[in-house]
Amino acid sequence: MLEFEIVKNEKHSKARLGRLKLARGVLDTPVFMPVGTTGCVKTLYHETVRNIGYQLILANTYHLHLQPGEEVLDSFGGIHNFSSWDRNILTDSGGFQVFSLSNLRKIKDEGVTFHSHIDGSIHKFTPESVVRTQGIIGSNIAMCLDVCSDPKVTRKDAVRHMEVTHDWASRSLAELGKLRNDGGKAPDNLFGIIQGAFCEDLRKQSAEYISSLPFDGIAIGGLSVGESHEDFIRYLSYTVNYVDNSRPLYVMGIGSPLYMLKAVENGIDMFDCVQPTRVARHGLLYTKDGVMNITKAKYRNDTHPISDGCSCTLCRNYSRGYLRHLFKAGETFAGTLASEHNLTFFYDFMRNVRESIEQDRFLEFEREFLDNFRTSPL
Ligand SMILES: [Zn+2]
Repeated sequence: MLEFEIVKNEKHSKARLGRLKLARGVLDTPVFMPVGTTGCVKTLYHETVRNIGYQLILANTYHLHLQPGEEVLDSFGGIHNFSSWDRNILTDSGGFQVFSLSNLRKIKDEGVTFHSHIDGSIHKFTPESVVRTQGIIGSNIAMCLDVCSDPKVTRKDAVRHMEVTHDWASRSLAELGKLRNDGGKAPDNLFGIIQGAFCEDLRKQSAEYISSLPFDGIAIGGLSVGESHEDFIRYLSYTVNYVDNSRPLYVMGIGSPLYMLKAVENGIDMFDCVQPTRVARHGLLYTKDGVMNITKAKYRNDTHPISDGCSCTLCRNYSRGYLRHLFKAGETFAGTLASEHNLTFFYDFMRNVRESIEQDRFLEFEREFLDNFRTSPL
């Protein structure tokens, strides 16, 4: 079982501080994980990601399965050797990418068949194959294959998706046990995923079922899939009432400060999102006052750094005007600088979140942060 210690529960909310012990380092939670889809965080050296302070990044099973594929990863002894990233890796199951990237897919009880978004070739994921692939990757935290419903799903389909997800959850655990017994390559830890779309009774049923299984951690899936902000908060706060919260809780794919704060408020320990690095490559930079679009003309002669007090390479060395110039000139260096800045912002943000929990003033911190972040047009 995964070593997870709840260090402190905040007095006025469900927010909590935890410590997660993984094979390649100990993490303080709540924690944000940058996304390194194919085994690297786009445009950044591993050293940069590590030096910011990140101990855990996320890689995508779907992408790694398509390229370089299990055979190459196996020959290198897993992703850590292959990529030289020496800290922890969480891999998603590929389920979400199958549903979002592959427009031709067929869900059956045994698994899902889909066309590669790269060359159209046909592939099949089963709950068992996905656990095996994550074992070959050498994942420190693996996720079960699940069926993620569209926000507009009919109730009949939502029930079916949940039932298939539950069946796949127990089959994933069985496969993990088998790999361990046979001395095969098994991921270090396995998290189950709650589904149930936007139906309270299904959410409750799914939370209780997944909590009844011996997973190392629990993810609340099927959120942040295009629903309203109110629905995100409503279904998240409803679902956590029925989850075994002695284990780490994870909400997948959320990366806006608002959603992250709402997740922390509800006792969530982990989240990931591609957003900070994706928008960085388009010239959008996070600051405590909001998101700055550095490509705007008003920054042309601006000699200030992006953020006073930020410790990233960009803010220590370069002006807004120079960064704007790099974006305008199409220099890839611009994306590198902006990505490091945004990941530094999120790291500092999470450290401030943890400090506010420590001091029992999380709700105050949340309110102040959001007031500042929303009201200042940049
Ligand atoms: Zn910076």
